[in-house]
Amino acid sequence: MIRGTVALVGHPNVGKSTLFNRLIGQRKSIVDDQPGVTRDRIYGLGEWLTQEFWLIDTGGIQLEDQDFASEINAQVEIALEEADVVIMLCDAQDGMTQDDIFIARKLQKSNKPILLAVNKADNEKIRLGIYDFYQLGLGDPMPVSSTHGLGVADLLDEVIKLLPDKEMRPYEGLTTFCVIGRPNVGKSSLVNAILKEDRAIVSNIEGTTRDAIDTPFTYDGREYVIIDTAGMRKRGKIYENIEKYSILRAVSAIDRADVVLFLIDGEKGIRAQDKHVAGLAHDAGKGVIIVYNKWDAVKKDEHTMNEVTKKIREEFKYLDYAPIAFVSALTRAKVQNLIPLIDEVHESCTLRIPTNVLNDVILDAQMMNPPKAQSGRQLRIYYGSQVAVNPPTIVLFVNDPELLHFTYARYIENRLRDAFGFIGTPIKITARKR
Ligand code: GDP
Ligand code: GDP
Repeated sequence: MIRGTVALVGHPNVGKSTLFNRLIGQRKSIVDDQPGVTRDRIYGLGEWLTQEFWLIDTGGIQLEDQDFASEINAQVEIALEEADVVIMLCDAQDGMTQDDIFIARKLQKSNKPILLAVNKADNEKIRLGIYDFYQLGLGDPMPVSSTHGLGVADLLDEVIKLLPDKEMRPYEGLTTFCVIGRPNVGKSSLVNAILKEDRAIVSNIEGTTRDAIDTPFTYDGREYVIIDTAGMRKRGKIYENIEKYSILRAVSAIDRADVVLFLIDGEKGIRAQDKHVAGLAHDAGKGVIIVYNKWDAVKKDEHTMNEVTKKIREEFKYLDYAPIAFVSALTRAKVQNLIPLIDEVHESCTLRIPTNVLNDVILDAQMMNPPKAQSGRQLRIYYGSQVAVNPPTIVLFVNDPELLHFTYARYIENRLRDAFGFIGTPIKITARKR
């Protein structure tokens, strides 16, 4: 269970990225830049004593053409907006600086739990000097040395204590979805259009504790929640154009959603950044619908829809399972089709196939098209079993897992899709030795 989000703030060079890397360890971080850029990771999963939490290094969120003060300002605001716990990092070797005081003032105004960590406290002598930092008014300064790992365990103990005691999935039983896409594709317009649909009634269910802007509503007697993403409310809008920040917001929204609506701006067509966003949706293993928006603004004839479909399939090969919807958030054309599609995709994500039915399909598929032998040895699938949903996960019990070539797994996947639909959901197939 992921307990919540922790953000690191502090002026440059205090050691945020060093601490970040130590806390996420070998795990893969989510936002990667081009190789060679030092600031490549800003968002990752940390773990302490079986508890997991998202970690954000706000130092990696950089504004273009902004002076230093507004940059720090934005970082602190983003931390306060996103995190359940904020760690303010200072530098024990530099001592307290004006920047520390500036950051501390901003943090004091919020009611988020703040931990004050004083980094580079590599030895006893330096540790004794950290008491100055009491003046920041953020409680006890905790000495840490990110490079040596000293004090990190104590810091993490405090983090775990302060993280909210809540499930990250407060909407159990409801269908949750989020709308992601690059700036200006029409995310907010689409959300408004969905909510304006005649029968969509915004209900007054409380959101999450974290000043949530998620929007619950009922439609045809069923309950849904639109999970907030970057730029959907005014306050966040100013940061929406910081690409990394909008990606970060998308990641946390995807994390909480059952179904992801991935928006493309039909007026502008597919852009490079769309691939980044689509990759996030796919990697998360959630249900995905590709929504081609601004269809009203597209010059079209009777071939256009097919051509666009072909182009989308070419550009987003790995999302071949995702249905495509052509809509206009502006005129609300076809917006009413989205909710039934969301239902269908959500059902696919949670579909459980009985073992005997599953095996009929798998054994048939194997008979129709037996696996090719590899260096004289042939894969044999004895039987399969669905071991999980969200996404549907199938384990094939075989003679030797090494012999399951991805093209054959792909073939099995396609047969399962033919038989059971699985619209909009990825399917995971793994092999295990019987
Ligand atoms: P950021 O700008 O806040 O992300 O800082 P970095 O993580 O890039 O670290 C800035 C510099 O401080 C680097 O040269 C690090 O090696 C160094 N540094 C980070 N943590 C420690 C520490 O615990 N002790 C010492 N002596 N140096 C550290
Ligand atoms: P966001 O940044 O992704 O939330 O995008 P917005 O919802 O703020 O929309 C960006 C711009 O695109 C606004 O000027 C909208 O009026 C416009 N827009 C959104 N949806 C449509 C649409 O379906 N058709 C047209 N023609 N314009 C749209």
